[in-house]
Amino acid sequence: MSFKSLVGRHELRSLLLRAITCGKLSHAVLLTGPSGSGKKSWGQALSMAILCPYCDNGEPCMKCFSCCSYLNGNNPDYFGLAPDGRNIKIEQIRSIRQGFYLQSSKKVCMVDQAEAMTAETSSSLLKILEDPPPDLYFILLASQPHLLFDTIVSRCQRYILKPLACSEVTGLLMANKDMSAEKAALIARISGGLPGYAFELSEDDYFERRFEEAKTLAYNLATGCDSVFQLLSWARYLSEREDLTNFLEFLCMSYRDGLIQTLGSEGSAAWLKDIDSASLEDSIMLINNAIHEINATNINRRLLLEKMLILLQRRLTKCQKSSGFGLNRPEKPTTLTQV
Ligand SMILES: [Zn+2]
Repeated sequence: MSFKSLVGRHELRSLLLRAITCGKLSHAVLLTGPSGSGKKSWGQALSMAILCPYCDNGEPCMKCFSCCSYLNGNNPDYFGLAPDGRNIKIEQIRSIRQGFYLQSSKKVCMVDQAEAMTAETSSSLLKILEDPPPDLYFILLASQPHLLFDTIVSRCQRYILKPLACSEVTGLLMANKDMSAEKAALIARISGGLPGYAFELSEDDYFERRFEEAKTLAYNLATGCDSVFQLLSWARYLSEREDLTNFLEFLCMSYRDGLIQTLGSEGSAAWLKDIDSASLEDSIMLINNAIHEINATNINRRLLLEKMLILLQRRLTKCQKSSGFGLNRPEKPTTLTQV
């Protein structure tokens, strides 16, 4: 994994390459970004660049013993830490700590999901960071950096992985997966610029069906063609699904598209055209709040969905009726066939 092989993020790339070539790289680097943003790939490229003795302008040579052994997963100067179960435990760092102090060459310890470190592990890491051995580099990866000790974050050089452009994710999928340009573009749009999430979706056989179902529900809510009884049926059906939050993200995306459309960019669905932006924003917020409650609490999913769907339909059809759009029901209302 070299920087050359990574797509986009030109600013981040030049910052890291400059830090490596000028010898300004800190002994502790924190890479942050949402899950699926590619932190691990960037962390791997950085690890290889630090370890490679023939690094050229910040790029690892990919040929030497260090690079080859890294790619084979047995570089003796590389230490990887990741959650064992839910946490990164103190025993894990104790088992490798001795290796940090062997005086030979540069060493890298990459901590994946660093926010999963227990308080004990964090304290142990902090002690090492307070008086780091020469030539030891820590690379911490975190999607929730606010959960890290402030004292650890303050000792790190921090880099943020921003989402990729839709076209960059499309290109990445087409180069690595056997799929049509149309499907790659759809996945790229859904992924929100997160390459890891895009690859996950590309291996999910049901995502297209889920996406179509979410579009159906988005349409039904916006046109008011479902009765309250049908909305309650949707709530029951969805509450039993394991991929509920994923489904709700797709539902949210339909209204986000509508919002982009009302703001003047190109849009996709004619039926969203007449909904005002305030109603679309409210709908997106309602769905996001529901996703948060489902993820963070043990809330009754069915009751939550019943309330959310009724509120969504009321909000979306209210503004359409005021513009006259909702007075006529669609000729062929789409119904929930899965119930
Ligand atoms: Zn090399």
